[in-house]
Amino acid sequence: MDQASINALRALDVTPRGHFINGAFCAGETGAQHQVLSPIDGLPLAQIAEGSPADVDTAVRAARVAFEDGRWSRMAPAARKKVLLKLGDLIEAHALEIAVLGVRDNGTEINMAYKAEALSAVATFRYYAEAIDKVYGQIAPTSQDVLGLVHHAPVGVVGAIVPWNFPLMIGSWKIAPALAAGNSVVLKPAESASLSLLKIAELAAEAGVPDGVFNVVTGRGAVVGEALALSMDVDIMVFTGSGATGRRLLENSARSNLKRCYLELGGKSPNIIFADAPDLAEAAKISAAGIFRNSGQVCVAGSRLLVQQEIFEDFVAEITLHADGFRVGDPLDLKSQIGAVHSLPELEANLDFVTQAEAEGAERRTGGTRILTETGGYYMAPTVMTGVKQSDNLFQNEVFGPVLAVTPFKNEDEAIRLANATEYGLAAGVWTANLSRAHRMVAGIRAGVVHVNTYGGADLTVPLGGVGQSGNGHDKSLHALDKYFDLKTAWIKI
Ligand code: NAD
Repeated sequence: MDQASINALRALDVTPRGHFINGAFCAGETGAQHQVLSPIDGLPLAQIAEGSPADVDTAVRAARVAFEDGRWSRMAPAARKKVLLKLGDLIEAHALEIAVLGVRDNGTEINMAYKAEALSAVATFRYYAEAIDKVYGQIAPTSQDVLGLVHHAPVGVVGAIVPWNFPLMIGSWKIAPALAAGNSVVLKPAESASLSLLKIAELAAEAGVPDGVFNVVTGRGAVVGEALALSMDVDIMVFTGSGATGRRLLENSARSNLKRCYLELGGKSPNIIFADAPDLAEAAKISAAGIFRNSGQVCVAGSRLLVQQEIFEDFVAEITLHADGFRVGDPLDLKSQIGAVHSLPELEANLDFVTQAEAEGAERRTGGTRILTETGGYYMAPTVMTGVKQSDNLFQNEVFGPVLAVTPFKNEDEAIRLANATEYGLAAGVWTANLSRAHRMVAGIRAGVVHVNTYGGADLTVPLGGVGQSGNGHDKSLHALDKYFDLKTAWIKI
């Protein structure tokens, strides 16, 4: 990856050719489009097809026909594996192009996007391709006069809805296991970040995924997302996004066919620094990256820093230095460490959180402002707020921006109490050299993942999912495959 190649790609026209339905791009029923602005400079970037309920129906029908005739669902797992490995190779061959495409509509810094979006998608397709011909059914321990077989049957048509942050990484976490298991998929990307996933659809067809098996309908949540959630012919819904939309999906499932909904939602993750952490300087550096990279637009961001009282002031000073030291700027500049906030409304919401926190008595140690306004883009200075109390909005609610809420604690019991004092339960961090304490904290914190002496970072081998109002499903690892299968019993009299 070099700057000249990135610059050449940033100039390309990226207007997509509409939805991807039944193996081809199409304009959709109405031909309507909406304008996507680039967070880099606030300028128009591309026109995206504005899907309608009829487009969703067409895509779901194509997915159903493909599923029922077995062109993919009844293909040998080893044959599906071959196609998905080819797709991984094609994404790898186009990795920089795809990463730049994604950065232009979502604003993530290119160093992160290249690895966490493009290369992560490659790894994900390869992982589930390799896994799928190693999944066995079971023979039940029945009496001798019957044979009880437990098959893993693909569920049918999977509806997938993903957000604008890391659309390709998160999209791949759903598409790859769903396809590997033999399902058909209808995907709705976020209206403001569809480009990289449309490219994956094109590459999937090139790799040999049959027509109708993988479809993308772009457009608004309130139209396309609703229609998908209300469809009587979508068997399961896999979703990553906000709690409010998650709730709506459950309502719409109840209104339609009771489809199972797997929800990966938001977080307000505690990152807990004990005075006996093995290396406080390292803890400050990693904790700063754990909240500020990608402008804090990371579901597992360590957005609540809990610091033991005796090291509080020194640690806050150290992390504030890191906050001030990040180079925020054009996300397509390799030197930028933090890119843009995704949209103007997001940026304004982030600033409102800071204003409200100050009104509630918090102290702004640094940041809290829009910066680089001369670029026209949406950039925000990394922000550190101290004096944040349990009852404060900033303690309880997800900003999804570069705003760190800092709160002191006295001892282990108080740390666990504060850690668990929100409705969320996505991720957490604990920094301590005391192994027993580390285990007690892992057991005591209500979260899908607890990092110890690090923050963030995990590979495909481990599941990611939340508890509480952070969700109910898991992406990644072999566990993620479970939701894309129904267990089907054959009870055979001998
Ligand atoms: P969002 O819920 O607004 O949108 C997510 C997707 O849902 C988009 O594609 C949107 O168009 C669609 N949508 C919106 N309204 C809909 C409706 N009524 N019916 C169906 N679909 C609808 O969330 P967002 O702002 O795009 O994403 C940010 C949120 O996602 C944050 O809360 C973040 O924490 C969360 N997130 C969670 C994880 C995780 O793994 N748990 C990962 C990334 C992001």
